[in-house]
Amino acid sequence: MDDKLLFSKILGIRLPWFIQKVVVNDSEQRIDIYVDHEPGIRVRCPECNEFYGLYDHAPERVYRHLNTCQMETYIHVRPPRVNCPRHGVKHIDSQFGENGSEMTFAFESFVIRVAQECNIEATSRLCGLSWDRSWNALERAVGRGRSRKVHRVPERIGVDEKSIARGHKYESLVYDIDAGTVEFVCDDRGQKSLEAYYRQFTREELSGVKAVAMDMWDPYIAATKAYVPGANKKIVFDRFHVMRHVLDAVDKVRKNEHRQLCELGEDTLKGTKYLWLWSQENIPDWRRPEFDSLKAKDLKVCRAWAIKENLRHMWIYCYEANMRKYFKRWYFWATHCRLEPIKKAAKTLKTHLDNIVTYARHRITNALAEGINTKIEKIKRMACGFRNRSHYRTAIYFHCGGLDLFPRPPIQPSLKFKGA
Ligand SMILES: [Zn+2]
Repeated sequence: MDDKLLFSKILGIRLPWFIQKVVVNDSEQRIDIYVDHEPGIRVRCPECNEFYGLYDHAPERVYRHLNTCQMETYIHVRPPRVNCPRHGVKHIDSQFGENGSEMTFAFESFVIRVAQECNIEATSRLCGLSWDRSWNALERAVGRGRSRKVHRVPERIGVDEKSIARGHKYESLVYDIDAGTVEFVCDDRGQKSLEAYYRQFTREELSGVKAVAMDMWDPYIAATKAYVPGANKKIVFDRFHVMRHVLDAVDKVRKNEHRQLCELGEDTLKGTKYLWLWSQENIPDWRRPEFDSLKAKDLKVCRAWAIKENLRHMWIYCYEANMRKYFKRWYFWATHCRLEPIKKAAKTLKTHLDNIVTYARHRITNALAEGINTKIEKIKRMACGFRNRSHYRTAIYFHCGGLDLFPRPPIQPSLKFKGA
């Protein structure tokens, strides 16, 4: 079998296309395959799929293909153009690689698969590409995936903020809780950011939203109330964020008390920060004796801890009325404990209670969002610092968007023989 026949079989090249020549360069460890077409062809207009006579040829394109053994392999082709009476002069849908890409479909798919497993630097090294070319493949993959995405509003949405880089830059992320995907990423965490997501949909479409999990964050609340019909009953403040308010209060109590004790020359609370923040069942066995002896002392932080642990039970209830009843008792206790940070947290929770107890009906949290957040942290580390925000967003969509990222060759051939 000669080399042209071999590569025709490997690459699936059929008439009217044929391989004109194969150049093997030993010293550069590179193979160049030149593809041409027979005369007397008809060319398909990519817009209307009608075949017309050959108009002319676009300049030569060189597509990087999968290596042949250890040799980098390139395909050279001069794509024919068509002059459609309705759509004018058009480039054909190439069967070798996407228009605008310098990679064949097979090679580009390989780059995407590698990028799903590795960071962009490793992808570049493994595929023998520059950073920019690898990144370009990622961006095209995301563009492709997002344009193929079906236009629909998730029934259960999670909204969360994510800090990027150092400092206080934020992104708002919108999740489909059931699919476990990031649906939308927008700059900062203001009302307008979230509204940009909702604005893609009609009011009727948004009425299909059943529940929205979020932090007790006014701009998100305002955006959701402005766009989602019946939002009052649909917003659920994430229980972990709610608990975080109380946890912060417990930590403040510990800090204050520790300072006061230190002034008296006692370091009882030194190194105990997490003992008070962990849930009771998460305290490591080896620290339990220490924790039990601390609890036996008459400490303010111990009272704060008990109040915090108690609140966790509220989410067990299946009915709003029971949650409210439980909260009322807890609130009385929390506001009479003479611990200012706890009292303040209790009051914050009370003003937001209506959308804390909606949990009873919808039973959603941003826990999944937190899971995705862990993945995003990993993305940030993997990327060794993105060059800009738009890169960061692209990476989130690439890894967490649940998108169909891979390029596909055209279903219909772009050339055929006259009369075929
Ligand atoms: Zn046409």
